Amino acid sequence: MSQPNSTDQIEKKLGERLSLPQLTIAPSEFAFKAPQHFINQIETKAPNDPLLAQILPLAAENTLIDDYLTDPVGDLHKSPLPSLIHKYQGRVLLIASPKCDIHCRYCFRRHFPYESHSNQRLWQQALDAIEQDTSIHEVILSGGDPMSLSEKVLLDLSQKLPPSNTSPHYEFIAEPQWFRHKRLHKKHG
Ligand code: SF4
Repeated sequence: MSQPNSTDQIEKKLGERLSLPQLTIAPSEFAFKAPQHFINQIETKAPNDPLLAQILPLAAENTLIDDYLTDPVGDLHKSPLPSLIHKYQGRVLLIASPKCDIHCRYCFRRHFPYESHSNQRLWQQALDAIEQDTSIHEVILSGGDPMSLSEKVLLDLSQKLPPSNTSPHYEFIAEPQWFRHKRLHKKHG
């Protein structure tokens, strides 16, 4: 289902939580997106509510400013392979999903070319590179939100990461408890 992105649609979605006319909504290529339970936490008619600021596309976003970049953190200069970002020694990011349940207006990957960097068919190349580089001790699943993947895809991906018992150069350091249980259960069959 497409996201509400016209001014009318966004106003309707936010309802009484909006305080106009202080705010000027401006539709954006990076569409408005927020789950209803998040919207429900926004204080009514409080234009400075930080949760509202996180999701509301404002006209100021469309102002072109010299020296502003579409890749402000330099991801693409540090991407040796599609799906892989290697900025720091020993640590890589695997771009696992292009999707998020929410679109944060401050997102530094709003212009990221996910179509060429977050394709599951490209993962194997990145996984092979991780396995071959024994200096890597940390693999961060990133995106987008990797938790937007289906449980099956996420578990399959975890199984495809080089097994730590044969290539003990990285380990899982942060994962949701429920996922850790399922991953270990699947691993031990
Ligand atoms: S990648 Fe992070 S900052 Fe960007 S929209 Fe998704 S949750 Fe927000």
